Order: sequence, then structure tokens, then C-alpha cells
Amino acid sequence: MNISQKLSMTAMEQPTKPAYIFQGNETSYQELEGAVTKFASSLKSLGYGKGDHIALIVGNTPHFIIGMYGALRIGATVIPVNPIYTVDEMGYILKNGDVKGIITLDLLLEKFEHMDAMLPDVQDYFIAETGAPIDWEGSSLSRKMKSFTKTVERGSLDLERPELDEEDTAVILYTSGTTGKPKGAMLTHKNLYSNASDVADYLQYTENDRVIAALPMFHVFCLTVSLNAPLMNGGTILIVPKFSPQDVFNIAASYKATVFAGVPTMYNYLLQTGKEHVDTFKDIRLCISGGASMPVALLTAFEKQFNVIISEGYGLSEASPVTCFNPLDRPRKPGSIGTSILNVENKVVDELGEEVNPGEVGELVVRGPNVMKGYYKLPEETAMTIREGWLYTGDMARMDDEGYFYIVDRKKDMILVGGYNVYPREVEEVLYQHDDVTEVAVVGAPDPDLGEAVISFVVSNNASLTEEELVRYCGEHLAKYKVPSKIEFMEELPKNTTGKILRKNLREKVVQ
Ligand code: AMP
Repeated sequence: MNISQKLSMTAMEQPTKPAYIFQGNETSYQELEGAVTKFASSLKSLGYGKGDHIALIVGNTPHFIIGMYGALRIGATVIPVNPIYTVDEMGYILKNGDVKGIITLDLLLEKFEHMDAMLPDVQDYFIAETGAPIDWEGSSLSRKMKSFTKTVERGSLDLERPELDEEDTAVILYTSGTTGKPKGAMLTHKNLYSNASDVADYLQYTENDRVIAALPMFHVFCLTVSLNAPLMNGGTILIVPKFSPQDVFNIAASYKATVFAGVPTMYNYLLQTGKEHVDTFKDIRLCISGGASMPVALLTAFEKQFNVIISEGYGLSEASPVTCFNPLDRPRKPGSIGTSILNVENKVVDELGEEVNPGEVGELVVRGPNVMKGYYKLPEETAMTIREGWLYTGDMARMDDEGYFYIVDRKKDMILVGGYNVYPREVEEVLYQHDDVTEVAVVGAPDPDLGEAVISFVVSNNASLTEEELVRYCGEHLAKYKVPSKIEFMEELPKNTTGKILRKNLREKVVQ
């Protein structure tokens, strides 16, 4: 079984049920299934099939769902890419990923006109129209351009489906990594299917769920939790083209949303905007947080203000992505990423790969049907990351006596102050408890005496808040060596498109 086959089954079982709602328009499972089949058949008649790579470079629109499921149906491999990447970033991925076809938006055409000469293997650009018709003839790519909509319309509902092996690569996700070039994590059909169904089971998704998809679709968190998992169980996806608190509140209220998934910074924005919108979340049965650690103070304030439950989970691209979630049928533990989801094993190991005792900190490693096949064209990196069947996550964690895991921090984010380990998260948790702190990130900076020093970046809603006050506050809650030696106030913290705080940029700032 793969996710595209599963979609066909759901469409047979509940043809008229809305699969997604986009800009006020409902699309039923039957309509989605029709568009997917037609797109797949058009791709096939254009010579695409198993082993071909198709890049998907669109925002949060139905084109993403139709494009991805259509390409998967004929056995092609999909490479979702962040549409806001620069020509260099995108060009690297498309070249490294041996891309043959690109599904993209008319708005991005200019980027491809610049890039095309670098990409001799690209045969077709499937252009999704977002507004007024574009001038095909005027473009240097006109020979290779095809309208996405017309490609779907021209397709046939009579598609002979190829046999798909569950070990075939379904998607390649390029993960940013902090050093070097992005690496392409190859996820198989089995990886995608198992994680979507295990997440759907664990979080009790049903056909009655209406899930807000506000995270960017190209990111694996959205792909599995907000797209594949609801489609597995016949739920409805509420597409938010671009995250804004107002749009989330409007969509939640208009369509009686039941599930919201976001990264902690999204929860922070909703909380800051939210007092008068509290009612709009009244049908929400579950809020899901992941992608970065959820500060306990934020979780508690959000749950109280909106009268909802947040289940924090954990994942990474290489694990399709989810490995842990706080359970719904047992106690949740704030600050924890919960317990292993069904079929997935997590454990904490020392430098030698031996499991450590509960309570001890080590690296989190993961095993299960969700773990990637490897990095595309990087066998050595793959061998370093997957050892004896276990995926080494690069995240430091501990497990308690009841099997709940806690992410301490990323291995590479740890700060070494005069020989002592300081985990930024611990300092951030304390600062988040201060009433005047809205957002905070802690990084290490080179220090001539101690090796590294703790530096904190703070966003505050109180203009009279001082560095001294925050240093004093930290001193009351933390050992001396963990107290930031410098606190810098900012209007806003730098974030990537998914909403994760870019520590790398902050680190660069302190070494300048
Ligand atoms: P990505 O591959 O972009 O999904 O990023 C995966 C990384 O995000 C993980 O290796 C973690 O460092 C981080 N991450 C994801 N979920 C959490 C969480 N709940 N708490 C802390 N870090 C997280």
C-alpha cells in the first residue's frame, strides 16, 4: 500500500466528502482523485514514469496535493522545494536531485528563466496559474512550458498503474543542515505510508477531522501531519496559503476546524494576537506542536487562553518525520515530546551507542518503518547517520521512568562554558517564564577566557525591560555559569519559512 493508492480507496468510500477547502472552495475526494489520476496519466504520456524526479515548487495550494499524489501514482519521485529559495539554493537542489520536470507557479517564472541554462536535464515546466494568464510566448522557456491546469484537463481517468515497490523512493527532502550543502533524505513509499498512518492512529484522526494546514507544505511536518495523515482517514484539509494569525482564526471559525498543527513560534503569534479570538478555537480538539521545542510557559499560557490541549511531538525529515508524540489516552507531560508512536522505537545512547539509564542525557536514536533509505548520492553520510539500523538524530535527549522523552537540545547547539555544558533550551525556558519576554533564543559566542559565553536574544513587549533585570532573573533560577553574559533586545527573531528560529543567523551576529 502507498499513500496514493490509499487516496483512491478513500475516494471510493466517501466520494462526496470534501478532501480540502481552499479559498472558500470545497474539493471532494472524488474530484481530487480525478485530478490526481488525470495529472498522472498526462505525465505518463509525456514520458514520465518510475525513477523520474519531479520537483514541486509551489506554495500552500491544491497544486501541491494534486502534483504530489499524481507524480507518486506513476512511480515518479517528488522533490518538494521551498519556493522562496534563491536561484543558487534552488539551482543546487534541482541539479543535485537530477530533476526532469518542475511543477511551479507562474509567479516564480522569472527565477527559472535565470536558472534554466544551469539545468540541462529539465524537460518540462508545469506552470500553475495563480492570477491573470501569463505571456507564454514572451518567455525564454516557452518551449518547455505547460499549463498545469491544462495538463490535468488533458489527462485520462483511465490510467494503467505501474507496480510500485514499497522500497522505491517516493520523495526526496532536502534538509538544510548547519554545515555544507543540503542533503536529500530519500523517503520510500513505505516510509510515507507508515508514518502517516501511525500518526493518524496515535492522534486519533477520523473522517470528522478538519485539519488546518498552515505550515508550509514542502516541509515534512506539514506533509505528513497536515496532509497525508488526514487524507489517510478521510478528513478534510483546510488550506491556509500563508500563515497569519488572522487567517488561522478565520479559517478555524468558518469551517469549525478540529485540529491545528504548528511550530512553537506560530503558537506564540496566535497567543499574542488571540485574546478576542479565543472562541474561534472552540471546535479544536487537538493542537499539535513540533519542529522545535515548545517552551513550557508558552504551552501553559496557550492552553489556558484557548482552552485546548497541545500535544507536543518530535520528528525530523530523515524519519518521515514523526517518532514521538504526547499520548491522548495517557497523561501529557509539558516539556516532553511524549512517548514513541506505534511501530517506532526511540532510545537514548552514549558515545559508544550503548543505551543509557533513564534520566541520563545522550543522543536520541530512532528505528522503524519511517526511517529513510539514506541520503541521495551520499553513501558515506548515510553510513554515518544510520548505524546498525538506528538513525542518529543529532539531538540530545533523556527518557524518564515512564518512557517519556525530553529533548535537551541539538548536539551542535550545546554551549561549552569553561568546561560546563549549557543547553540553550534550559536558559530559554527560564526566560520564557518572565512576564515581559515574548520570544527568546540563546546561542554561544566565542569567549577568550571561558571558550564560549552564553548570549541571549530577547523580544519584549515592555520597552523599559533592561538587560540587568533579565540577568538578575536568570541568576535566581540558574547556576551562575548558565546565566547569559549578554542580553540583546530585538524587534523580532530571524526565522525560516517553517517558523523555526534561525540560531545560525544569531550565531553569525555574535561573531561579527
Ligand atoms: P527537520 O528535519 O527540518 O524537520 O528538523 C528536525 C529537527 O527539528 C530535529 O532534529 C530537532 O532538532 C528539531 N525538533 C523537531 N521537533 C522538536 C521538538 N519537539 N523539540 C525540540 N526539537 C525539535
